[in-house]
Amino acid sequence: MAARILIVEDEAKIARFVELELLHEGYAADKAGDGRTGLEMALRGSYDLILLDVMLPGLNGLEVLRRLRAESDVPVIMLTARDAVMDKVSGLDMGANDYITKPFAIEELLARIRAALRGGGGASKAGEALRCGALCLDPARHTVTYNGEDVSLTYKEFLLLQTLLENRDIVLGRDTLLERVWGFDYLGETNVVDVYIRYLRQKLDEKYGVKLIHTVRGVGYVVKGDPA
Ligand code: CA
Repeated sequence: MAARILIVEDEAKIARFVELELLHEGYAADKAGDGRTGLEMALRGSYDLILLDVMLPGLNGLEVLRRLRAESDVPVIMLTARDAVMDKVSGLDMGANDYITKPFAIEELLARIRAALRGGGGASKAGEALRCGALCLDPARHTVTYNGEDVSLTYKEFLLLQTLLENRDIVLGRDTLLERVWGFDYLGETNVVDVYIRYLRQKLDEKYGVKLIHTVRGVGYVVKGDPA
């Protein structure tokens, strides 16, 4: 049966756009235009996932999440504004499974929805080695090897590769990578992600003649399950 998704979003155009995309993907979707209605529907309806905007009239998204979590562990993906650092941190603290920054690419939202429905959210168990073909990243020992050969990465290169491997098969947007690797408060060049992707490709893809890191035009980057 199709997964049922509730969209709690007061901006009608965004809600409608997301609804159409979800229906197109074969999901069942309902909409709520304010926090109070959203909370009631989330508690009463049997939803498999809630997309929850933070800035909502009536009851804001964080308050909806807090009340929802008192009664339900349904997966929740928060929709947050780009510069609303506290919302993201609070949302995750309060039990959101994931968040996506507005404006978002629909492909990234759909990938996050698939991950949340799988119960993954992408992240591996803490300390578990991440593998992709002959590549192995060991977070506990902070080492990367390819075919058993040590690959020397800088701290940020390591974090970037780790983030991509933890979210294998999920396309990550530049903003997402920027936040997860460089932090919410990063104020430098936004093309830093592309620059570091280039470094990683030099040290991995080009050196070993594989295609580990794929570019998804207009969206971001992804490491796929099986390297080509
Ligand atoms: Ca809003």
